[in-house]
Amino acid sequence: MSGGDATPDLFCDQLVRRFGSHAAVDRVSLDVPAGSFFSILGPSGCGKTTLLRMLAGFDRPDAGEIRIRGERMNEVPPNRRPVNMVFQHLALFPTMTVGDNIGYGLKRRKVPAAERRQRIARVLEQVGLPDLADRQPAQLSGGQRQRVALARCLVLEPTLLLLDEPLGALDLKLREQMKVELKHLQKAFGTTFVYITHDQSEAMVMSDRVAVMRQGRFEQVAAPETLYREPATPFVAGFVGDNNRLRGEVSRREGELAYLRLADGSEVCGRIAGDALEAGATADLFVRPESLMLSPEGVSQLRGRVITTLFDGANSRVEASAAGHTLFARLPQDGSVGQLAADASLNLSWDPRRATVFAA
Ligand code: ATP
Repeated sequence: MSGGDATPDLFCDQLVRRFGSHAAVDRVSLDVPAGSFFSILGPSGCGKTTLLRMLAGFDRPDAGEIRIRGERMNEVPPNRRPVNMVFQHLALFPTMTVGDNIGYGLKRRKVPAAERRQRIARVLEQVGLPDLADRQPAQLSGGQRQRVALARCLVLEPTLLLLDEPLGALDLKLREQMKVELKHLQKAFGTTFVYITHDQSEAMVMSDRVAVMRQGRFEQVAAPETLYREPATPFVAGFVGDNNRLRGEVSRREGELAYLRLADGSEVCGRIAGDALEAGATADLFVRPESLMLSPEGVSQLRGRVITTLFDGANSRVEASAAGHTLFARLPQDGSVGQLAADASLNLSWDPRRATVFAA
């Protein structure tokens, strides 16, 4: 790992890949520091796989440049790039033992047998499967197979490990567990990971930085916390985490705050994101379920009615209707929600700096 190295492990400048007249990847630039975990998050069809295939060398960009540790890669074939890839439907060789699967790439690189054995043993130890070298893939659980697939790549010590939805085929519980494990493994190996997923919780839990991709373009590249607290676009606000959206008309601006008049006449307030917000414009205010608070009448931003209340242990999830919108609130179990029966009226407020307003 070259943590202090100023040259990023991966650098892309204005990458474009077109299929006919459609740009599947449209002027994407990125910069991934050595030893970090970078995720590309976006809905199906946004261009994630196309981008990853160009990084791996399976596909050529129509424009732009790819550099790995400063070296131009555009013309370099996949097997000459310091890159390995883990796929969703991993293909372990079914008739080879775990050890031989892991050693396959080393053998192709003509690494001597004694060193191969050592490296296989070491990587198996690191992924927590020290005793399984002689097993066949069919004798492993789904999670173990995924760890072997990772070990098979990591043993080759690539500069970049590209991961294409590697947890997608696992069941929910295993996926939750593997998320945390993948993050630990990435830190332990110090390998730079580029991970693509449509699952925002995966990207948020594991990544140092996340690029949110939509229709071939990056909408925002930031640390998970920043994406969550300061979404740069309405798409990011809606795609990352749960959010409530209230549509209204800008009645006035005050410094960094905008006031929106909703259909029922109530006025709500949030922080302005982006600057094209004139009085009279239609705008959307996003506010997170956990930012909503019950409040006494008078100081509330919004009056509504309870639709349902669901208890989930630590929190109550309240569904309410207000100003022609359905809102979700996540309220702490401190007794205040006890009386929220269906159809009860409620007053909601929030800190305006924790709500974001975008031009619609
Ligand atoms: P998913 O999460 O469903 O895998 P994705 O974000 O990885 O989606 P891509 O597979 O990169 O998306 O596809 C991006 C766009 O490019 C889609 O509209 C897809 O139909 C199109 N596309 C991808 N590969 C080709 C191809 N070989 N020929 C024509 N169009 C393609």
